Amino acid sequence: MATRLPYCGRFAPTPSGPLHFGSLVAAVASYLDAKAHAGRWLVRIEDVDKPRAVPGAASTILTQLEQHGLHWDGEVWYQSQRDSAYQDALDQLHAQGLTYFCTCTRKQIKARGAHYTGYCRDRQRSATGSAVRFRNDHPTTQFSDRIQDHVSLDSMFAREDFLLFRRDQLYTYQLAVVVDDHAQGVTDIVRGADLLTATSWQLALWQQLSQRTPRFAHVPLALDPSGRKLSKQNHAPALNANNAAQQLRTAFEFLKLSGIEPVSSTTELLQQATTAWRAKYLS
Ligand code: GLU
Ligand code: ZN
Repeated sequence: MATRLPYCGRFAPTPSGPLHFGSLVAAVASYLDAKAHAGRWLVRIEDVDKPRAVPGAASTILTQLEQHGLHWDGEVWYQSQRDSAYQDALDQLHAQGLTYFCTCTRKQIKARGAHYTGYCRDRQRSATGSAVRFRNDHPTTQFSDRIQDHVSLDSMFAREDFLLFRRDQLYTYQLAVVVDDHAQGVTDIVRGADLLTATSWQLALWQQLSQRTPRFAHVPLALDPSGRKLSKQNHAPALNANNAAQQLRTAFEFLKLSGIEPVSSTTELLQQATTAWRAKYLS
């Protein structure tokens, strides 16, 4: 029987810009869950999509975390330095017959319908310049989530042969996130509900690459007043360094954590919020 690993959580921001309120909520939730479990909390910079990474954004994010009292354990990992680990995983999946090359463009896929339905599966595409897809024969369409309870996903999406490696020769987020969470001993993934659907793909990969699967907890997404996801694309404002305590309190309110005194020390606020998180999610 596999021994259970000690609790390890993480916050895994993409460095496409500074943190905004939506990403602070994900950082705070994963931090509080780790503290409530007396576990480790890691930070990993997800710059696997190298062209999308904005110069300086990673160090801005780390500074913003520190300004909010969110101190991480151990070294920060950067996905841009992990190509050989991703290639090893790709080789392993390939040797297991779980991958195939795909030459389809986005436009071609769209013209055939909303989902990729395995067009290149049996077409013996050559490796050069091709993307690599996961042969998703045993898709995960249901899983349990500590916050969302039982999750059942659109099976067309869950069944898709998702990308592991892109035609522009970059490893995908789906591959990198699973390889890294596995390598770092992450036991608990706490993040925004925008990644619920990706969880089905990630679990399919976990089943091939590991003897274990992590637990998931997806917190509600922060929306702007017009109901759109707060994101860099929608120009959500960056966090204000002079307003850390207030921003933490707003994040706690968003996460429906009650009984937190209006103190101004981020350390004290986070301690109180850990107690509130424990009462809400661990009892
Ligand atoms: N890097 C992803 C993002 O910023 C999050 C990855 C994750 O938490 O699994 O949206
Ligand atoms: Zn294809």
